[in-house]
Amino acid sequence: MSATKTQLVVFDFDWSMADQDTDRWIFEVLAPDLRREMKTLKDEIQWTDLVAHSLREAHSRSITKEQIIHALQIMPFHPAMVRAVTNLKNKGETTFLCLSNANSVFISTILESKGLQDLFEEIITNPAEWDPSGLLKLRRRVDPAGPQHSCKVGCSPNMCKGEELEAFLTRKGVQFDHIAYVGDGTNDFCPILRLRSQDTVFCRTNRGLQKRIHKEGEAEGLKCNVQYWGGAWEIEEKFSKL
Ligand SMILES: [Mg+2]
Ligand SMILES: [Zn+2]
Repeated sequence: MSATKTQLVVFDFDWSMADQDTDRWIFEVLAPDLRREMKTLKDEIQWTDLVAHSLREAHSRSITKEQIIHALQIMPFHPAMVRAVTNLKNKGETTFLCLSNANSVFISTILESKGLQDLFEEIITNPAEWDPSGLLKLRRRVDPAGPQHSCKVGCSPNMCKGEELEAFLTRKGVQFDHIAYVGDGTNDFCPILRLRSQDTVFCRTNRGLQKRIHKEGEAEGLKCNVQYWGGAWEIEEKFSKL
C-alpha cells in the first residue's frame, strides 16, 4: 500500500484485543460468588451499573486495589497481539482507537503491563477512578441522569459504539483511506454498520458479532468486508498485510 495511505484501526477490548473479559475475569479470580451473582442479575441491572455494584461489594470485603491490578496483569493476553499492534504502529500510517464497554482503569492497567500505554490515540470507554480508600469507582459513559443516546440497533444504555465512532471521526476531521475494526461482541455490530465498502471488520469467530453479521448484516445494510479470525496469531498475520 502507498506511503500516503491513512488508516484507522478500531479495537474493541474484551475478547478482541485481550483474550478474556475484564469485568468477569477479576471476579472469577478474586470473588467467584460475585461472578455468580453478576450472572444471575445481568438481565435485571444494566451491566456497567452491575460491575460498579460488584466493585463496591468487593471493596466492602477488603479486596484491595493491588489485588485487582494484579488480576488484570495476569489476564490472558496473547503475545502475538502485542506484536501485531506494535509492528503496525511502527509503520507509522495507522491511528489506533479503542472503543470498549469495559472501563478506563481496567484497560490502561492492562495496556501498561504490556508496554502498550501509548498505542491508542483515544480510549473511549466508561470512566473509572480509584478513590483514596482503594475503591474503584465506575460510571456509565452516558450519564443515566442526562440525555441518552439514540441508537436503534441495540447498544447498551451506557454507550453507543456507533455514535462514538462517528463522533471520533468528526473530531479528527480526517478522511481515513481505510478503517479496520477488530471486534467480537453483539455491541460491535452498531459501529461496523458505519463502515464503508473499502473498510474491513476483523470479526472474532463463534461470538456474538459473528451471529449478528449472519442474522442482520444484509438487512441492516452492512457494507464493509468481513474477515474472520480465531486467535491473535491470525490478527498478526492479517495486520502484516495492512
Ligand atoms: Mg468484546
Ligand atoms: Zn449503537
